[in-house]
Amino acid sequence: MTANLAELTGFDVPTRLLVGGEWEGGRGGGTFPVIDPATEEPLTEVADGTVEDALDAVSAAYAALPAWAATPPRQRAEMLRRTFELMTEHNESLARLMTAENGKSLRDSRAEVTYAAEFFRWYAEEAVRMEGVLMTAPAGGNRILVTRQPVGVSVLITPWNFPAAMATRKIGPALAAGCTVILKPASETPLTALAVADLLAQAGVPAGVVNVLTSTKSGATVSAMLNDPRVRKLSFTGSTETGRVLLRQAAETVVNCSMELGGNAPFIIFDDADIDAAVEGALIAKMRNAGEACTAANRFYVHDAAADQFTRAFAARLGAMVVGPGLEESTDVGPLVNQPTRAKVADAVQEAAGAGGQVLTGGSAPRRRGYFYEPTVIDKVPAAAPILGTEIFGPVAPVVRFTDEADVIRWANDTEYGLVSYVYTADLARGLRVSEALETGMVGLNRGLVSDPAAPFGGVKQSGIGREGAHDGLLEFTETKYIATSW
Ligand code: NAP
Repeated sequence: MTANLAELTGFDVPTRLLVGGEWEGGRGGGTFPVIDPATEEPLTEVADGTVEDALDAVSAAYAALPAWAATPPRQRAEMLRRTFELMTEHNESLARLMTAENGKSLRDSRAEVTYAAEFFRWYAEEAVRMEGVLMTAPAGGNRILVTRQPVGVSVLITPWNFPAAMATRKIGPALAAGCTVILKPASETPLTALAVADLLAQAGVPAGVVNVLTSTKSGATVSAMLNDPRVRKLSFTGSTETGRVLLRQAAETVVNCSMELGGNAPFIIFDDADIDAAVEGALIAKMRNAGEACTAANRFYVHDAAADQFTRAFAARLGAMVVGPGLEESTDVGPLVNQPTRAKVADAVQEAAGAGGQVLTGGSAPRRRGYFYEPTVIDKVPAAAPILGTEIFGPVAPVVRFTDEADVIRWANDTEYGLVSYVYTADLARGLRVSEALETGMVGLNRGLVSDPAAPFGGVKQSGIGREGAHDGLLEFTETKYIATSW
């Protein structure tokens, strides 16, 4: 099985735990299979880390911390920069690996590797720009000196939908800030994370600075790490449901938390919008990663006067997309990651159709092996339909028609999530007014893609706490130290 993977990707894919610079089989946890969602067959087995392995990884990260924190920022930056170059050099191999374990099309995987590598380049640049403050106290008697220090050993937990980018978006700033880490990737997609860790080691990152714990026992291993007082930071990306559990656990040891959680993005198209541009934006916002993105447009609100034109054009584009194994060059839409994800998508479509929605294209799973689902557009969905409150996580676009700006803002905000919104309008004043009224951490204004390593990514409400990317992402891995000084 592993031999096929090596043939497929062109490199030797690590399948063991990375602890203290050694690739280890783990302390008796055995292995678990990684499944190819296009064939439903196992690709390989990886080590199934135990609680003891997790605590070994914490010990390794803790031992490596003082030297790494004392390493000159320029040297840390150069290792990150070298990893960016290695990822760029190995883009194709990493993309093939990611497609094999996640299912997404090669086009999506190549774009993700490029995006993921950019976090190392960006944080190589940010590592040398950690600023502090020196000011005279208002009373004049002393100085206020403020510096930033690495927060310490950091546990990084990532989901399966962006196996490379969610890892680099955390490892990049953590290492730039001088922290050491234990990465726990999703058990559906551990291979890409292991491959990235291998490249970090090749770039000269010292033993123990990056440790990787693959495990199906995520609850037990993560909880053991959060209970260990040597761990000072949790950076989590995943569902809001899991995020709540982890926030409760982190409360026990008052661990510093950054949370990137679920989304329910509205995509609003006003009657004055450029409809061709809106269709292009909608394709990216809905179909990138086959809809398996926290930023995926989850609800389309289209002004009544533009709705026929938009839905016709959008349904035609989705209907023409090629559904197939991600490794085939002609594929636009690969399989979903697993059977429960596909079943949830199918249920949501049935329910929306039952509530009065009209399926314009798609609406079922093709009869073939693999967790495929057809790109689907459902028009005239009632504004109160349950699908609009569910994170669909699949290639399904429910369309709701509206006439009034105040109504659409109210509907858009009627959710516990607040990650991203999309707004299409030719009227800049309206675009900015609506953007300000939307309760989300990010807005795509006449754009279907917001992700950029140089921009602060994150949500409000139950979509998260903190930001990744930009300079903000670096500060998440630091503590502020204030020294009251007299001289
Ligand atoms: P998930 O089930 O919450 O899992 C995410 C990670 O948490 C995985 O590594 C998982 O490990 C681990 N995990 C699960 N239960 C745990 C527990 N009790 N204790 C400790 N760790 C636990 O989410 P997912 O299904 O992988 O990912 C999809 C979700 O991620 C969606 O809601 C999506 O919106 C969100 N997401 C958010 C962002 C963002 O930036 N806001 C980006 C991408 C995805 P196992 O795989 O081993 O269970």
